[in-house]
Amino acid sequence: MTIYDVLIVGAGPCGLSCGIEAKRNGLQYAILDKGSITESIRRYPINMTFFSSADMIAIGEVPFVSLNLRPSRIEALKYYRKVAEHFALNIHIFTEVQDIQQEGDLFVLQTTQGEYRTKKVVLAIGYYDIPRELNIPGENLPHVTHYYDEPYRYTMTHAVVVGGANSAIEVALDLYRNGVHVTVVHQFDWFDKTAKYWIVPDIENRVKKEEVKAYFNSEVTEITEKEVFIRNIQTGKTDKIPADFVFLMVGYHPDAKFLRRVGVGLNGEMLIPEINAETFESNIPGIYMAGSVIGGEETAKVFIENGKLHAQPIMQHIRQQLSEKQEKVWVKKEA
Ligand SMILES: Cc1cc2nc3c(=O)[nH]c(=O)nc-3n(C[C@H](O)[C@H](O)[C@H](O)COP(=O)(O)OP(=O)(O)OC[C@H]3O[C@@H](n4cnc5c(N)ncnc54)[C@H](O)[C@@H]3O)c2cc1C
Repeated sequence: MTIYDVLIVGAGPCGLSCGIEAKRNGLQYAILDKGSITESIRRYPINMTFFSSADMIAIGEVPFVSLNLRPSRIEALKYYRKVAEHFALNIHIFTEVQDIQQEGDLFVLQTTQGEYRTKKVVLAIGYYDIPRELNIPGENLPHVTHYYDEPYRYTMTHAVVVGGANSAIEVALDLYRNGVHVTVVHQFDWFDKTAKYWIVPDIENRVKKEEVKAYFNSEVTEITEKEVFIRNIQTGKTDKIPADFVFLMVGYHPDAKFLRRVGVGLNGEMLIPEINAETFESNIPGIYMAGSVIGGEETAKVFIENGKLHAQPIMQHIRQQLSEKQEKVWVKKEA
């Protein structure tokens, strides 16, 4: 059985960056992903556009050429696949890591494709797999989702979009522009001030012209097959809204259950992993964290632009650690 120097869990943009740096540092590595390459981006809304310019989310110093200033999801999917091909990265797709145990100096990873052994591990698992739940009756009904694809299936229906940040605004506008009767429900008094500056005026005008209905300072209390029940947080007034489809665009968070099972310390309500700010090594020596997972619940804090930069310090630290260890072995042998 191969004993790797480092196994990288997650083939998102930050995991791929780690793979490139592992290769550049001459480490024996593999990248394991439970889905395809950049699985999270593959599951993003089909017609989404990044808020970053292409150069800002390029990795491995491979230029990212896009038709527009901000690339589309499809351009990003093609680009990251070309980068993986360019570096001939060792990626094991459809390999979900279910548990990580320590055995002497090694880590043993239990995966859906069998056991892997390695000296070091990097967790670049992102946050997009676990939606933030509202924990209300009806949240798991078939017409309710935390993920959006495209508008065409929903034309001529009534849709309720819950949330007020980027994803909720983009979903509401996309549905409205494709003939859907859209109602937005948001817990705060207006749309998120940090939302993309070029979409906010658009949704504000739609609401002012009542082309999109909106309930602010409101929370969803129950979802039934045909309606959404809401309550105004300030007045206590309740309402019900007709809904054929419900989009809960209220965010995501890292897989806390998996991280805790592995033994990674998560601080406070924001689930911020315990890491060394310079080396990104976690509270478990030999396990490192990279990319957006480091932001915990504050998913807007770490994204591709800054998460990709974790790769170099991590791989340099791993190489240094492994060579120091090797030296000790030689010195001992000499003695
Ligand atoms: C709609 C939207 C627009 C965005 N726009 C931008 C933007 O313009 N600019 C920007 O910088 N960021 C943007 N972001 C944020 C950015 O996409 C994420 O921060 C980025 O994907 C983080 O990369 P990552 O490699 O850390 O995580 P991900 O890309 O989420 O990759 C994690 C990978 O880990 C895999 N994985 C998870 N658990 C396991 C496991 N147990 N075993 C094996 N594999 C596992 C997943 O399948 C996934 O492929 C956007 C996000 C969204 C949702």
